[in-house]
Amino acid sequence: MARIIAISNQKGGVGKTTTTINLAASLAASQQRVLLVDLDPQGNATMGCGIDKAEVEHSVYDVLVDKMPISQAKRFSEAAEMDILASNADVTAAEVELLSVDDKEKRLYNALMAVNNDYDFVIIDCPPSLNMLTLNGLVAADGVIIPMQCEYYALEGLSALLQTIEQIRDVINPRLAIEGVIRTMYDPRMSLTTDVSAQLTEHFGSLVYRTVIPRNVRLAEAPSYGLPALKYDRLSKGAVAYMAMARELLRRREKQQAA
Ligand code: ADP
Ligand code: MG
Repeated sequence: MARIIAISNQKGGVGKTTTTINLAASLAASQQRVLLVDLDPQGNATMGCGIDKAEVEHSVYDVLVDKMPISQAKRFSEAAEMDILASNADVTAAEVELLSVDDKEKRLYNALMAVNNDYDFVIIDCPPSLNMLTLNGLVAADGVIIPMQCEYYALEGLSALLQTIEQIRDVINPRLAIEGVIRTMYDPRMSLTTDVSAQLTEHFGSLVYRTVIPRNVRLAEAPSYGLPALKYDRLSKGAVAYMAMARELLRRREKQQAA
């Protein structure tokens, strides 16, 4: 059975998409069967895996609105060596169209249940808001990974996300756990970074990944070549950090499964 993980934080620019692409590609490089689901109409995760969002035949729109099976809508990313359920601007319409259908917040969950045995991990890139698309992601997920940039306003708005997670758990998806918090764009030379980092650890304890993702220009460059960092510059600090995060996630998974 696949472990379904949503990468979510309603703040934009905190590294959700970068984490989605590079964590997913690192898991795939670790012999895991991976499906990336791009729920953001901006299609940045799609493009970052070398798939032209303007030319995708099927997208997550078809799955959410028309109940197209994922087996039919997905495609293979050569660059990331994993399956992708792509997104593009069409998906903006899904958000509105979903409001008037049955099971509107369970469409992604239902679709994923049909391919659950084909993957070890499903990694979902959520848009930077708590809309119907994000709701579909969180209802489908077993766990949420929250990327956090250790800056002054990082904790602001976090309580809204935590409240939403709790509500979803209470009302519709009791499986939903906080899988982890990953510190992104980390710069230990800034004292603010270490302050906020300490606050995170105080709040989330061992849920904070030991791995930190440094600020690294290769991570920002790689998507413009349609490549995950490990294919663009395998030895770059960014690529190495996401491989370490994948290993840490796999170790935690083994422990969870043994418990
Ligand atoms: P989100 O999906 O949360 O909006 P992104 O992953 O798109 O955030 O990241 C926002 C911007 O910051 C992008 O331009 C991305 O390339 C850049 N970025 C993300 N993580 C890093 C990092 N660790 N080092 C350098 N640049 C980064
Ligand atoms: Mg994004």
